[in-house]
Amino acid sequence: MKNRKYIFIVGGVMSSVGKGVTASSIGRLLVSKGYNVTAIKADPYINVDAGTMNPTEHGEVFVTEDKDETDQDIGNYERFLNKNIYSVNYMTTGRVYLDVIQKERNLEYKGKCVEVVPHIPNEINRRIEKAGAKDKADIVIIEIGGTVGEYQNILFLEAARRLKLKHPGDVAFVLVSYLPIPNRVGEMKTKPTQHAARELNSAGIQADFIVARSEQKLDNKRREKLATFCGIDPDNAISAPDADSIYEIPLLFDKENLGEKILAKLNLKPKKQDINDWRKMVSSIKKAKKPLKIAVVGKYFGTGDFTIADSYISVLEAVKHACWANNRVPEMVWVDSEEYEKTPIKINELSQYDGIIVPGGFGSRGIEGIIKAIKYVRENNIPYLGLCYGMQLASIEIARNVAKLTGANTMEINPKTKHPIIHVNPFQTKNILENKYGGTMRLGAYPCKLSKDTIAYSAYGKPSISERHRHRYEFNNKYRQKLEKAGVVFSGVNTQQDLVEIIEFKSHPFFVGVQFHPEFKSRPLDPHPLYVKWVETMVKQEKKKVKKSRKK
Ligand code: GLN
Repeated sequence: MKNRKYIFIVGGVMSSVGKGVTASSIGRLLVSKGYNVTAIKADPYINVDAGTMNPTEHGEVFVTEDKDETDQDIGNYERFLNKNIYSVNYMTTGRVYLDVIQKERNLEYKGKCVEVVPHIPNEINRRIEKAGAKDKADIVIIEIGGTVGEYQNILFLEAARRLKLKHPGDVAFVLVSYLPIPNRVGEMKTKPTQHAARELNSAGIQADFIVARSEQKLDNKRREKLATFCGIDPDNAISAPDADSIYEIPLLFDKENLGEKILAKLNLKPKKQDINDWRKMVSSIKKAKKPLKIAVVGKYFGTGDFTIADSYISVLEAVKHACWANNRVPEMVWVDSEEYEKTPIKINELSQYDGIIVPGGFGSRGIEGIIKAIKYVRENNIPYLGLCYGMQLASIEIARNVAKLTGANTMEINPKTKHPIIHVNPFQTKNILENKYGGTMRLGAYPCKLSKDTIAYSAYGKPSISERHRHRYEFNNKYRQKLEKAGVVFSGVNTQQDLVEIIEFKSHPFFVGVQFHPEFKSRPLDPHPLYVKWVETMVKQEKKKVKKSRKK
C-alpha cells in the first residue's frame, strides 16, 4: 500500500461511552476487510505509565509483552485485533514531555527554542508514525483519551490536526458521542453531540463520522439533525445502541457498512470480506444458556461495583471467553473478603459457587479474609484459580494450615514475619528503599517450564510457555521442600532465575495458583487454556453433582 492511513477516535459529551470498544471494533472490521491494522492509545495523564495509578481511579493496568504498564484499552485492542500490541502503541502526556525534555538536554533540537507547539504535537506524531511502521500497518487507529473540550487532551488534537494537514487524504476522524434519552423527555437528544462536534471544530478538526452511543438506535430524524448541525454526511452518523456483549459491536457496525464507509473516506476499497470467525464466536456467546456461578474474592469494594469491574476487566473477559468455549454463561459475583474477617461463618456461602478466583492485588486490606476463602475452597474441592497475589496467598494458606508454619506471611504485609513464604527479590529491595516505584516491578513476558503430569501441563499441552507478569514479591525457595511435603506441586518454574511460577495442590480437582497474569493473553477467538481447563473442571464437577443427587 502506498500511504499509511490514520483514523483518530475522539470522545464527545462524556467519558466511558465506549471509545476503546469503538476503536477496537473498527479495527476488527478493517482486519476482516483485508487490512493490517494497529491501534494506539494516547492518554492525557501526566503519569508516565498506568502503573502508578490506582486501579479504582483509572481501571486496570494492562501489561504488554514488552514490559509496559498501559491503559486497559490496549487490552481491548489485543482482544479484538487478536494480536499483541506493544509499548510503542501507548503514550501519555507525561511520556511525551519526558522524551522532549530528554532530547532538549541532549541538544537534539540544535539550540532551537523548544516550545509546547510545535514540539509536543510533533513528538506525538513521531510516536504515531513509529508505531505504524513497527507493525507495518496499513491503517493506524489512534484513540485519544478524555473528551473534546478538555484542557487535558488539546495537544493530542493539535497533533491530529497537523497530521491531517500533512496527509490530507490519509486521515479520518470519528467522534464517539453520547446521545441521552432523558426519562422525563422520552426522546433522544442530539444537542450535547452538536456542541461536541463544534468543540472539535474549534480545535481545527471536522468529524467525518459520528458514532451515536445511546440506549436505543439512531432514527432518521436524528441522523438528519446530526448531519445538518455537525457537518457530516447523514450516512456517516452511525447508530450504536447498547449491546448485550461488546463483541457484537463489530457486527453491528458491519450492518451499518462502517468499514466500507471509512475505507472510502481513506480512498481504499475492501480487499476481502471475512468476518466469519468473529460471527461464529458471537453466535457461540448467544448459544450458551446454562450458567456457571463464579465468585471473584478480593478487596477494592469500597467505591462501587462499576469501578471494580474496570479494575479487573481482563480477568472478567478471560472468564467469559473460557465459559463460552465450554458452552456456559458466566454468572460472576463479587465477594468482599473483608466480610469473612468480620463474620467468619459467612465463609460457608462459598459452597454455592462452581468456581472461585482470587485476582491480583496489593497491600494488606482484606487479605486475611481471602486466606480464609482459599482454605475453604481447598478443603471443599471447589475449582480455584489464584492469580499473582492469589497464588502468593494460596502458598501462605497452605504453609499456615497444612505445613503448620504459624504466622507464615508475605513480606509485603509483614516484613518481619518468621516464615516469609513470599519474600522480596534482592534487587527489588533497592527499588523500594530508593522510592523507585515507576516501571520497576517484574514486568512483561517471561518463559516458564512445566512439569509433566500436572494440571498446568494438561491445560497447556506443552512443556514451555510464556506469560506476562506484574509483581514485586516472589515465592521463597527456602520453603519449597516444606510445602512439597504439605502437598504442593511446583508445576511451573522459570529456570533462568529459578523462580516458582505455578503451584498446585495434590488431590484437589483444580487448585492452581500462578505468579503471572494469564488473563492478559486470553482472546475471544483464542481463550486461555488455563482458564478453559478451570471451567472444564467446573463442568465436570457439575455433572458429578447431578449424578450424586440422582442416586439419592
Ligand atoms: N502484591 C503482590 C506483589 O507485588 C502481587 C501483585 C499482583 O497480584 N499483581 O508481588
